[in-house]
Amino acid sequence: MPIADTPDHRALVDTLVVANRILAHHGIVDGFGHVSVRAPQAGSFLLSRSLAPGTVTAADIMRFDFDGTALDGDTRAPYLERFIHGEIFRARPDVMSVVHNHSPSVIPYGAVRQPLKPLYHMSAFIGSGSKHFEIRDAGGNTDMLVRNAALGVALAQSLADGSVVLMRGHGCTVVGESLEQAVYRAIYTEMNARLQLQASQLEGPIEFLSDEEGRRSSASNRGTLERPWELWKKSIP
Ligand SMILES: [Zn+2]
Repeated sequence: MPIADTPDHRALVDTLVVANRILAHHGIVDGFGHVSVRAPQAGSFLLSRSLAPGTVTAADIMRFDFDGTALDGDTRAPYLERFIHGEIFRARPDVMSVVHNHSPSVIPYGAVRQPLKPLYHMSAFIGSGSKHFEIRDAGGNTDMLVRNAALGVALAQSLADGSVVLMRGHGCTVVGESLEQAVYRAIYTEMNARLQLQASQLEGPIEFLSDEEGRRSSASNRGTLERPWELWKKSIP
């Protein structure tokens, strides 16, 4: 039976499909990138089969264990980089959802190893700065993809307790306490990168949110996640 048809997964699968569509609609993912959610059964998560996120439907959702092995006898082709999700879920019990993408404005920051910092309240979740993942330290010269468990572990270590990790020469990975929050964070990570670049072109030092301002803004944003989510949901084709 497809995972979407099991009663304890149906609602979560539907939300995951919406998350895929919203991220695609906002240009956070295109033909590439993926979003996952922790499944109710311990040690497993839901992720689409290898497919462009904008075309994902409920029937495409698969379930994996944290080693990246497909469960439920599913033999369809998975994403090569599913190890990003499994190893972060394993390392971070607080994380319920993971978004991996190559959204354009974050790429320069990974390349020059400059952290994103919260320029405004919407991106307060960035906290004291984004984390940095150097794949060369973990795997030497690679094709830049997190295509095995060892690279997934190294990425999760680089993310540490952060909410955003920039992946040099590749993209970024964003985590959240829910699908809605991870999607929100992925969208505003891209937005913050764009704004941070604009601010850096103006005269004068940039005044980022202080840690305390960040904590307070994050707390209020948590209470209003529903609003953008419902709007984004309506706007998807
Ligand atoms: Zn990637």
